[in-house]
Amino acid sequence: MNQLRHRMDLARRFHDAKLESYMGKFLKEQINSFDHIQDGKPYLAATFYVPGEIIALFDAEVVFIERMAGFAAANRIISASGVMSLLSGMPACGCSYQALFHSLLADKIIPIPSGFVASSFACDDAWMYCRAAAAKYKIPFYFVDIVQTVEESTVRCAAVQLKAFYKELEGKYRVISSLGEVIAASNKAMAIKEEIDNLRISYPGIMDSMESFKLFTLYNDFGKLPTLQILQDLKSSIQERVKDYKIEKIPRLLWLGMIPLYRNSLLRDMEKRYQCRVVFEELFDFTHQYLTYERFFEDLAKRIVSSPFFSVENRINNILHYVRTLKIDGVVHFSQRNCRFLPPAVPLLRSSLENAGIPFVEMQGDAIYPEYFNETAFWEHLDSFFEMVDGGTGCAR
Ligand code: SF4
Repeated sequence: MNQLRHRMDLARRFHDAKLESYMGKFLKEQINSFDHIQDGKPYLAATFYVPGEIIALFDAEVVFIERMAGFAAANRIISASGVMSLLSGMPACGCSYQALFHSLLADKIIPIPSGFVASSFACDDAWMYCRAAAAKYKIPFYFVDIVQTVEESTVRCAAVQLKAFYKELEGKYRVISSLGEVIAASNKAMAIKEEIDNLRISYPGIMDSMESFKLFTLYNDFGKLPTLQILQDLKSSIQERVKDYKIEKIPRLLWLGMIPLYRNSLLRDMEKRYQCRVVFEELFDFTHQYLTYERFFEDLAKRIVSSPFFSVENRINNILHYVRTLKIDGVVHFSQRNCRFLPPAVPLLRSSLENAGIPFVEMQGDAIYPEYFNETAFWEHLDSFFEMVDGGTGCAR
């Protein structure tokens, strides 16, 4: 039996047994998609910001590279060829998310896709990997070029690119959903997500941050009907917790960047050790951009351009907003090894937070490969950081 599928199913049963129906349903969806591609259904391998709503219109399975790599890392499906794969014909110094995905293809854990689709936002590594891998396997490469400037024309140009991608799929795949259906599903999902976000702001710490890290790739599934039920179940579960919610007088942390995916209880261990709570993390934070029938591509483009990650200014303003709103006492940034997208903002972030009187620490490691994460150094570094947060001069409340 395929090891990755087996472990995903074990995780699904574990969450079902804990009555975490949203996690069980989320994993069930991934397993169904996994089964379809194993049975020979053609699929597209896509990068994170390629809007799922466009692909949901067509009879095409999609595997989001970072999500699949994340599942493999969390389930420790890592082979030696993973670390080496970027050296064997793929771009050098790439990110381990792509390296691991590449090793899943090389080791035949997942079949070769029928095409790669990449957006130039967020990072260059992802689209460059897709271009190289498509050339290697002699399959199509669809490129959505999002120019990362903050100008009036940015949304218009991105919308043109998204429409061109839609047209390419239209020529190759059968239409299975109407635009109206996909827009309705996406908007309903966004409305539930907005309610969840409001609950998280009103009741800091009500949602476990590890849940957010497991679920943030739902962003890619907003045009699909099962996403509604997953979000609805998550919202109901949070509403249940509200009944027993008490404001805890312990330091509140904001977690930025990634998390070591193979170290499931890291945040919980940190919360126990320092008597603190991670009340928010930036990856599960999407802007609430709804879609309209008349301006479908433009609205999708607006959602991308308004992302907290679209510019360093967006990101810093967003972080400062949450620091104020949630009365944050300290900020941790986990920088992914070899990521040239999020870690370069650290110096600016550090000075912005220093100006706001908020202790900040950067931790380093690799979300995918455990051998690049020094856990002893991690705790030592945090010991000094928490002296500043808890009892030092930096406490914001
Ligand atoms: S971790 Fe960084 S380099 Fe890797 S896929 Fe994400 S943004 Fe790109």
